[in-house]
Order: sequence, then C-alpha cells, then structure tokens
Amino acid sequence: MEIKPNQLPTVAEVAAYFQGNESTNYQARMILECGQNVKTYPFEHAVTNPYLLACHHRFCPDCQRMRGQNWASALRSAISSEFTHTSKSDPRLFPNWMAITLAGVPCAPLDLRKQLETLLEQLSIAGAQGFWRNNVRTTLRLLRLDVNQTKDGRPRVTPVFTFFMGVSRHLINLQAQGKLIQRIKREWVQPADPDNWAGVQSCVIPTATIQDQNALQTKVSRMIETCCPYADNQTFLYIVEELRGVKTMAVYGTQRNVFLPSRISQADDLRYEREYSVSRHGPHPSC
Ligand SMILES: [Zn+2]
Repeated sequence: MEIKPNQLPTVAEVAAYFQGNESTNYQARMILECGQNVKTYPFEHAVTNPYLLACHHRFCPDCQRMRGQNWASALRSAISSEFTHTSKSDPRLFPNWMAITLAGVPCAPLDLRKQLETLLEQLSIAGAQGFWRNNVRTTLRLLRLDVNQTKDGRPRVTPVFTFFMGVSRHLINLQAQGKLIQRIKREWVQPADPDNWAGVQSCVIPTATIQDQNALQTKVSRMIETCCPYADNQTFLYIVEELRGVKTMAVYGTQRNVFLPSRISQADDLRYEREYSVSRHGPHPSC
C-alpha cells in the first residue's frame, strides 16, 4: 500500500500497516477501536472516561487530526495575544512572524534516528546563540518526514524542520535584505550530494488580518496531520521504530504557556507510545 504525500489516510489504511505481524497486530486494533468504548488492548474492557475513548496512537489519523487542530489553535492564540498589546494603527508595530524551513540530509530509513540526533544537536547549538535568543520571541517547531527513492529504487527519508517564529523587526529587515537566509545556510547541515535536496528557506508570514491568521492556522494544522509519510509497509514500520519517543512538535520562548495544554497532550501520547511499543502488556493478540 502506498498513500500519496499530503493525502490523509483512513483509519483502516493506517491500521493495515500494523496488521499481519504478530508483534504489531495489537496496534492495528488500538487504532481501529479509536473512539469506541469497547477496547481489546491491553485486554478486553469498556471505557467510560471520554479522554480514554481516543487511542492516542501517534499514527492514528483521527488523533493526529485532533493534535494538529490543538497546536494550530495554540499558535493562533499566541499571535492574537500579541495584537492586543500592539498599536492597531501602525502596521510597522504589528507582530512579526516568519517561517524557516530546514531540510535534513536524505538517509536510509534505518539511519533516521542517527540523522535526527545530528540535526537536533545542530539546532541546539544554533538556538543557544545570542543572535537567535535576542531576536526570536516564540518558536513552534514542526518535524515532517519526506520519503522518496534513489535511482535504484531504495527508499530515502528526509527529515524537514519548519519553524514558525515570532521575531524582532531586525530579523524582518535582515530577511528583506537577503542576509538572513545566508546566515541560516551557514549554520545548517549540507548533504554531500545536494542534488534534489530541498535546502533551506525563509519567508515572512502575514498575520495582520483574520484571513491571514485563518490561513496560517489551517496550514499548521494540516502540516501536523500530514507530518508522517505513509510509504511502503517496510519503510513505514522502520520509520515508526526510528521515530519512537521523538517529539514531532516542540515550542520555545516567552509564549510557551499558550501551548501548555497541547504539550501535555503530546507528553501523554509519548507515554502511551512507550507503553504500547515496548509491549509491556505482551504483543500477543490474546494478551
Ligand atoms: Zn486514535
């Protein structure tokens, strides 16, 4: 099975990845039972707590959609709250938001974790610099994975980070002068073979009108929903394994508290993931 990028898979399509393998079958059941009150994992039981109706599986399309909406609406709140403190008559004082996209180096699915560790290390070195700390108020960082194939048909995964950032006027000026992208390029990784590499991009995000904010909210929600690639079965299962415990969303800066409820929800999802993926309850369907 192969689902096109940006096309949302159905619950049955995602569950199918986990079916047919004794060690992952129970995850297919979790996803198929999402939203229902009768559960068969870790044992047959009925739930009454509305929070536990959802499966909280990180690849469940329904839970992923909900996650996308929560985070996008938190970002919207962070932007709106800035407007209440800013002069509405002077556009120069409007909140300034930018998006920066950084593509990692394409790698084999089984090297994904190593590659992510390298990139996160690179990001934390850059993030510790005074330049970024002084010019960025709030950052929402999203991780997306792209899958394509080499000429001889081997799958390649590329982690792509997108940063939605509330920034200083100074950063907007550097962007307009073309100097910001130069700096970002110097600080980011370079693949040995840059052909077909997405590289780095930066742009200003309009936020002045309700329509601008609606468009941004929809875009961010959609990006979170579609962050994981639905590739061929083997590649997908490798990616699930390599991505275990990795945060696909992260937030930094002064408006972090706006994201707190959703952040807790992600921590919860990661806790669920630890439990179901190490299969402490036993992977066998009868467990
Ligand atoms: Zn679910």
